[in-house]
Amino acid sequence: MEKLRESVVAFGKRLVSSGLTVGSGGNLSALNAEKGVIAITPSGVAYEELTPSSIVLVDSLGRVVDGNLKPSSELVFHLALYEKFPDIRAVVHTHSVYATTFACLRWEIPAVHYLIGFAGKKVPLAPYATFGSEELAANIVNAMAGYQAVLLANHGLVVMGKSMEQAFNVAEETEFVARVYYQSKCIGEPVVLPNREMDRVLEKFKNYGQSTPISDEAT
Ligand code: 13P
Ligand code: ZN
Repeated sequence: MEKLRESVVAFGKRLVSSGLTVGSGGNLSALNAEKGVIAITPSGVAYEELTPSSIVLVDSLGRVVDGNLKPSSELVFHLALYEKFPDIRAVVHTHSVYATTFACLRWEIPAVHYLIGFAGKKVPLAPYATFGSEELAANIVNAMAGYQAVLLANHGLVVMGKSMEQAFNVAEETEFVARVYYQSKCIGEPVVLPNREMDRVLEKFKNYGQSTPISDEAT
């Protein structure tokens, strides 16, 4: 479990260095599926101060298995996502500025740039509910069906992934598209890619990068 804790710490610090959050905003978790144990950031502790021992280990019901600190106040939505989507291994929650700007407008992020494909054909919006509530967890789980990222009305962004690295990348790419959407809205009306083009993009993303052998790549 030490490796899982170290990964949560490392990506927590990357959230700050990449400008995706400040202070102790947002939270992260990773699942060890074999052991059924989730490593999650502690509540209200600045990322710069995190060490592996500050990461809290909980079981699938949220009972603390190891750690001296209180787990994130958003533990309930992390647990709900792992339960509903058994393939995922990490959850990243940010208050990244551009994504949160659209969340406060209660707008979804449409396919104004093909890189939205990391999250899905768009980034949907989960209705507002108080942070840390069961209602917020239910809203997130519902909105996430078919996507890897959702905006939380008047709050921020939640991303899930098959690994911590993947979830983090989706958070970064979503913030990039949110920024481009904001900026293009400032000087004109951005063109949204049609559904059939996003189908092509999502298909190509299956073989994007180094994850598949060259012989398997689609042309
Ligand atoms: P925690 O510090 O309790 O994880 O809360 C931060 C947050 O983003 C709440 O939504
Ligand atoms: Zn938050």
